[in-house]
Amino acid sequence: MLPALLLAFQIPFGLPAALAEWKAEIETRTSNRIEIIRIPGDPLPAEDRDVLYSYFNRPDFAESFSRAQAITFRYETEGRSRSLILLNLPRMQRTQNTSAALIAHELGHLWLDSLGLPSLEYEPGPKACLAIHTGDIVQHILLRAENDRRGIPWRPSYERDYTAASDSLLREPTTGAGDDCLRAQRLSLMIDLRTGFEPKSFAAREEYLEALARQDREAEAIAIELIEEFDGKLMLEKSAYEWALERSRLAVKRLLISPAVR
Ligand SMILES: [Zn+2]
Repeated sequence: MLPALLLAFQIPFGLPAALAEWKAEIETRTSNRIEIIRIPGDPLPAEDRDVLYSYFNRPDFAESFSRAQAITFRYETEGRSRSLILLNLPRMQRTQNTSAALIAHELGHLWLDSLGLPSLEYEPGPKACLAIHTGDIVQHILLRAENDRRGIPWRPSYERDYTAASDSLLREPTTGAGDDCLRAQRLSLMIDLRTGFEPKSFAAREEYLEALARQDREAEAIAIELIEEFDGKLMLEKSAYEWALERSRLAVKRLLISPAVR
């Protein structure tokens, strides 16, 4: 069955020079082509079509994608690995994030992978989201530092996104910390906000952190603790990276066995 999201209708878009250069570097290092695909809209490369159809027909994958603005999808076919950056257009339009900032973020994930620092394997099923958020906690700190090093302006876009998210959280406060996926995602977001943005660096930072903490106090405590643990120890080096992933895995585990204290 052809998932409705995969219908094609759009024209190609240009990539800013810093991103085109970074993409080419990663492609050279891995001898893989990176495809950027806006969904819905862009025509799917013929060789990826069947795999994408089968994933988008899986409820757990479709659900993970619907919650994200962009994801990086990697798979092996006939001995070659394929790297696809999938942009979720309807979601992006609601959050005002720019495609350049999202592509810079996803290139960061592929860049880490190309350095031998891979994200956790996608495990089909209900735990798929936990592997994503556990890996993201570590990868986001490293890839955002690289975005900065390359002079890629990702912050304004994310500040708008977080400000809008904070506003809607304050307008419509939700009750309860949510399911395991949501709790792990919130933990990752708290760490993103605290490590990627200096205190008071944009107007909504503190109120957004406070609103998130009200939803899950335990997650806030674990986020602060994990950031302290990482301080000065998280580096672009395999053993440091694997240590950080393990600490992140334990932090998520600790969060999910704790009751959501409010
Ligand atoms: Zn990410």
